[in-house]
Amino acid sequence: MIIDVHAHYNDDRYDEDLDSLMKSFLDDDIYVINSATCPGDIDDAVMLANKYSNMFVTVGIHPEYALESNDTEIDRIRKLFTGGNNRKILGIGETGLDYHYDYSEEQIAAQKTNFVKHLALASELSKPVIVHNRDAHLDTMTILKEHLDAKRGALIHCYSGSSESVAEYVSMNCCFSVGGVVTFKNARKLVEAVKVMPRERILIETDCPYLTPEPFRGTRNDSGKTVYTIRKIADILDLSYEYVCDMTTENAKRFFEMP
Ligand SMILES: [Zn+2]
Repeated sequence: MIIDVHAHYNDDRYDEDLDSLMKSFLDDDIYVINSATCPGDIDDAVMLANKYSNMFVTVGIHPEYALESNDTEIDRIRKLFTGGNNRKILGIGETGLDYHYDYSEEQIAAQKTNFVKHLALASELSKPVIVHNRDAHLDTMTILKEHLDAKRGALIHCYSGSSESVAEYVSMNCCFSVGGVVTFKNARKLVEAVKVMPRERILIETDCPYLTPEPFRGTRNDSGKTVYTIRKIADILDLSYEYVCDMTTENAKRFFEMP
């Protein structure tokens, strides 16, 4: 079994063939945790998870959409967890900080507020948080230290930090999901980080449709291509492919308390 813990199947690049993709994943024993990223996406993402037996969902507001975040939207997310029929909703996010683009000061301030509100909600509901951190390492760390409920922890998705930072995240009960980037030629920093990650904290993701592993880099990604990411991790850690499948599946089930 493989669990792709971070994907975006709401993307319109799957409009034509999502049914057949999900069926082929089911045949291959591949499960997916789909992530909603903006207020307009959340209902559709929950609907998809209720439609496919091998799909789960996390709900939140991505930093890119931070200006759309407000108390009404946060309350709408809260009600998804407290309102029944929530068996497939596993966590809060993705949320976090993204300084990659040239955002305004107002947008950056909104990202921080949005991130803190998600962490507070996760603590209130005792749910894990899926954290997006792009070029915002210091502020992400500062906010997590202050606001993350370490009892439940967070998933640092598409980990891009250094090997030195791994221990700091572990001290806050964070797990790491590793995606296609680890197969890229220039992934040396990530390869070194994977070597020092505690094995019980490594999970597998795609972030599809983005970040397709080699040898398919540049094409549309999907959960079936986790095979290449897992092979690479097995290679880095000198473990068998099957061992890494089992290890990361167990880690995902434990971290998300999957039914
Ligand atoms: Zn994502």
